[in-house]
Amino acid sequence: MSDTIEKVKCLIIGSGPAGYTAAIYAARANMAPVLYQGTQPGGQLTTTNDVENFPGYPDGITGPEMMIELQNQAARFGTDVRDGWITKVDFSGDIHKVWVNETKEIHCQTVIISTGASAKYLGLESEQKYLNLGGGVSACAVCDGFFYRNQEVVLVGAGDSAAEEAHYLSKLCTKVTMLVRRDEFRASKIMASRVINTPNIEILYNTETDEVLGDGQVVTGVRAYNNKTKEKFEIPATGFFVAIGHKPNTDIFKGFLDLDETGYIINVPGTTKTNIEGVFVSGDAADHVYRQAVTAAGTGCMAALDAERYLAAKESDFEVSTPVY
Ligand SMILES: Cc1cc2nc3c(=O)[nH]c(=O)nc-3n(C[C@H](O)[C@H](O)[C@H](O)COP(=O)(O)OP(=O)(O)OC[C@H]3O[C@@H](n4cnc5c(N)ncnc54)[C@H](O)[C@@H]3O)c2cc1C
Repeated sequence: MSDTIEKVKCLIIGSGPAGYTAAIYAARANMAPVLYQGTQPGGQLTTTNDVENFPGYPDGITGPEMMIELQNQAARFGTDVRDGWITKVDFSGDIHKVWVNETKEIHCQTVIISTGASAKYLGLESEQKYLNLGGGVSACAVCDGFFYRNQEVVLVGAGDSAAEEAHYLSKLCTKVTMLVRRDEFRASKIMASRVINTPNIEILYNTETDEVLGDGQVVTGVRAYNNKTKEKFEIPATGFFVAIGHKPNTDIFKGFLDLDETGYIINVPGTTKTNIEGVFVSGDAADHVYRQAVTAAGTGCMAALDAERYLAAKESDFEVSTPVY
């Protein structure tokens, strides 16, 4: 084995709430965790201004501030937090091999995957502009719906998640206009009928977004068009919700880990174990249902405990090497 190969007891991939929580628990259990942050240090929450539903912050906190606090907490117990992107893995043997930035090779006794997921957007320039400004574009009704209480919003999407989000928003907002590209829902019958029977949800079929309208700071409406007649029209709204799916960041694990049809990692129910011994998953990379910071943190805790128990059961003589940067 080459001297340049580093050996670690517990490698954590990802620096969102799942990764940092796993790190806090692993570090406090003397597992000497090494955590790679990836290209989005702090994860998805760094793209939002207000986090009001994470326990322990009665006055709310900005996403970037919260993630710095989590990083500091993980570092305080000795987590080795590093900059780097995991480009390849090989989970075919007893020792799990991981490559950082295509060059550095690490051999790990345990790996905790916390690579999260990315919300899909339409890709319109105006949508991205107000998303980046934090001015009324969102891909998470549970996270941001509260900010649009007693207001009118537009939601794009036609699947089960879109139906769920529209229904959630309908309880907060005066009106939800739902834009459905085809002449029917993709959602299951039961979810679709729930939406259809909600009085303050208006469904516009064969309708797509032409432009998100705003005053330069915040969203003021949506210009939509009927894709059959090509007729354009404007809908006043203060919020634009996109519910067209998420892409889990799991491509590098294909061929080793069991993934569902969307790419979410399949865990053993009630645990964070994957189909490979010693490889655990936490957070949104395995969660297409809840997708919240607190649930990601919860499964991060579970992953560290599962990894710690796995190591204890193995009582291996695997020696941890001095870090090579
Ligand atoms: C705009 C927005 C607002 C939100 N608001 C709220 C809210 O108010 N409350 C709430 O509870 N939830 C909110 N959420 C959801 C919440 O952010 C997620 O549920 C949570 O961040 C998931 O945490 P995670 O640790 O699983 O992954 P993520 O936060 O997605 O982090 C993934 C991490 O993995 C890293 N990574 C990925 N691939 C690799 C790789 N190959 N190598 C190395 N690193 C890698 C990334 O760099 C990143 O650090 C919001 C989401 C968005 C997008």
